[in-house]
Amino acid sequence: MTSVDDLFMRLSRSAFRQRFHLGRAEYVYCQQKGEALIRQHAADFVKQRLSAAEPANDGRQTPMRGHPVFIAQHATATCCRGCLSKWHAIPQHQALTAEQQAWVVAVIGRWIQQEMAQPVPPARPAKSKSHSDDNDNRQLDLL
Ligand SMILES: [Zn+2]
Repeated sequence: MTSVDDLFMRLSRSAFRQRFHLGRAEYVYCQQKGEALIRQHAADFVKQRLSAAEPANDGRQTPMRGHPVFIAQHATATCCRGCLSKWHAIPQHQALTAEQQAWVVAVIGRWIQQEMAQPVPPARPAKSKSHSDDNDNRQLDLL
């Protein structure tokens, strides 16, 4: 297993992984729940969604929104067994050990800590009224 520092160094070079950040709602959620509870949620998600030898819907089991831990999982390549294999050298097709689960939770926890060290993210900007044409709206939705 690689060290956490080495992992975060490698993640910092991935434009895809760097795109993920806590939004204001997730940030406030973490503030309200506290670090211990968020880590407990992370441990539960890892156990339920990742730890089986063949997890259900593997590759699609981690939503893109809805919980700060989900975002952390995409940011840290702990979203599915394929990413765990590629980035964390955790082999697929076998159940995660307690130690491997603890590693994943530690990585998620560190990423959230890093995000929480930043200022509160701004509220989502209101939708622009200037694009009233339907085609423009459709284009914007694709982004
Ligand atoms: Zn993945």
